[in-house]
Amino acid sequence: MSQITITLPDGAKKTFPSGATGQQIARSIGPGLAKDALAISVNGEVWDLFRPLNADADIRIHTWKDDEAKRTYWHSSAHLMAEAIESIFPGTKFGIGPPIENGFYYDIDMGDHSLTAEDLVKIEATMGEFTKRDVPYERQVVPWDEAVRYFQKKGDQYKLELLDGLKDQQITFYHQGNFTDLCFGPHIPSTGRIKAVKLLSVAGAYWRGNEKNKMLQRIYGITFPTQNELDEHLRRLEEAKKRDHRKLGAELELFLITPNVGGGLPIWLPKGTILRETLEAFLKEEQRKRGYMPVVTPHIGNLNLYRTSGHYPYYKESQFAPIKVEHEEYLLKPMNCPHHHQVYLAKPRSYRDLPLRIAEFGTVYRYEQSGELNGLTRVRSFTVDDSHMYVRPDQLKDELCDVIDLIQLVFRTLGFKDFKTRLSFRDPKNMAKFAGDDASWVEAERNIKEAADAMKLNYFIAIGEAAFYGPKIDFMVLDALRRTWQLGTVQVDYVMPERFNLEYTGSDGQKHRPVIIHRAPFGSLERFIGVLIEHYAGEFPLWLAPVQAAVIPITDNHLDYAKKVHEDLKSAGIRAELDERNEKIGYKIRDWEVHKVPYMLVVGDKERQADAVAVRQHKKGDLGAMPRAALIERLRKEIGDKAFIS
Ligand SMILES: [Zn+2]
Ligand SMILES: [Zn+2]
Repeated sequence: MSQITITLPDGAKKTFPSGATGQQIARSIGPGLAKDALAISVNGEVWDLFRPLNADADIRIHTWKDDEAKRTYWHSSAHLMAEAIESIFPGTKFGIGPPIENGFYYDIDMGDHSLTAEDLVKIEATMGEFTKRDVPYERQVVPWDEAVRYFQKKGDQYKLELLDGLKDQQITFYHQGNFTDLCFGPHIPSTGRIKAVKLLSVAGAYWRGNEKNKMLQRIYGITFPTQNELDEHLRRLEEAKKRDHRKLGAELELFLITPNVGGGLPIWLPKGTILRETLEAFLKEEQRKRGYMPVVTPHIGNLNLYRTSGHYPYYKESQFAPIKVEHEEYLLKPMNCPHHHQVYLAKPRSYRDLPLRIAEFGTVYRYEQSGELNGLTRVRSFTVDDSHMYVRPDQLKDELCDVIDLIQLVFRTLGFKDFKTRLSFRDPKNMAKFAGDDASWVEAERNIKEAADAMKLNYFIAIGEAAFYGPKIDFMVLDALRRTWQLGTVQVDYVMPERFNLEYTGSDGQKHRPVIIHRAPFGSLERFIGVLIEHYAGEFPLWLAPVQAAVIPITDNHLDYAKKVHEDLKSAGIRAELDERNEKIGYKIRDWEVHKVPYMLVVGDKERQADAVAVRQHKKGDLGAMPRAALIERLRKEIGDKAFIS
């Protein structure tokens, strides 16, 4: 019998008889791992634990803590849900049932029946029963026409339509219990691994995301290996609901989205604008220190500009249609890059001019389907804290290090303590997807990796995730609820310098191409602030708070002194409001608490006589009386430190 050599993540090698499975490999490493294993990566591809390996391979066994395992687990749960649905509602047709960031969904067609809350309870209970049978998920390679016959007989036009697009591929079925699905897998070993089930909601979803197609019902659910983990997840969902930026955005008067203007087109209200401008000012100041040059460019551009860049027609689906003006066509800009390249082209550049760093808070427009729009996180107009640096190849690594340093500073300042970094590289097996020559890609990826190492980033490499014009670094930030958000990106680009014919004169007197770094620490300001509102639960640190202090006279008799305090604060650059309402002091304090204003400054007889204020801090309560001058110094220091109060 032939042998195969397996290389473990630490480089250790083991030999097994050909046909050994992930389960056997896990068992040879330890019984604990065999018990916890859910899937295996074979040369970077996730497989079922019971699938035989017939050739040498690099492997990694996945347990619940790995994202690969969670995806496999949740996708397997979607199959289990489908089985439960089919047992209760025979004749249901199934679309697709993928895993998502937290949990899974399945799109289903039940004819005229609309799912009710009671239905969900029933499906959930049935799933719970089915997990107890603990039956395996079995993979079967099926000839294409046999697969077609199976779904013809079953009458599932959605699976038939999917099969139609898979004629040249190997078709696999997965079976568990009484359910069979068309699926590439992978799946967990058996249904018994699913210990806690919760179905969360039902929404409408067009088949294949196309509004011309039938609207299906999408059931969202989540499962866990223990009840405790499910309880904890549901507790966090509750907390997330309280922090929902759409709700807080309205309560705190930060932004407004109204059909009178249009879906996905946020209007920034005064308080939200202050927050936004404060963030902008912070980044602009950091950029100024690092030698960035500001530019301003228009919101539309000639269509030819985007033909040159390839954004049109390549990304046509995600853009608004061109606007005809006289004999020309214009596009609402989907990207700032092509405009910025014109700045580079405005005059001849020499090697001494580089790096050239230009920056703009540039507003861009993207077409998103109305069903996809969501508060500030999915919008049709947003502002990117965009910068393009044009660098010589020998400057690339240092420049990347500086960009990483800036992004780290931004996250640290905003209280995002944890983040992971994904280095998104091309897939050498699928070169057609990526523009540019091989040598440039190798060079770009080497520089990115060296910069990531030099800056001690906690990173992982994602093959095939690069942009079409170059590799990138994506920052995945954990917020206060330990949810992951992709904020900040850095991209290295050798393709646009070619397309726009960007050049500089080298020290050798010859023409050379610069390399472009595209970077945005916030990414989209809209999305970033949406995340920030939820991260802080609307309780912004003092330097960001739209209203930093409220001056509250106890009675009208103290109004004159209160005005003096208010003026003082304003002169010191502190954003203060004077509460002149004819309300009881207790009511006013509660009201400012609800609006999450960091400091409440109460003034009465005692305070006036002592030239002081009684200070209350949001959520902390009474800090006692403080002389006016000392208070202002305290606030100014806290603002200057950009202190993060948690
Ligand atoms: Zn599947
Ligand atoms: Zn760009």
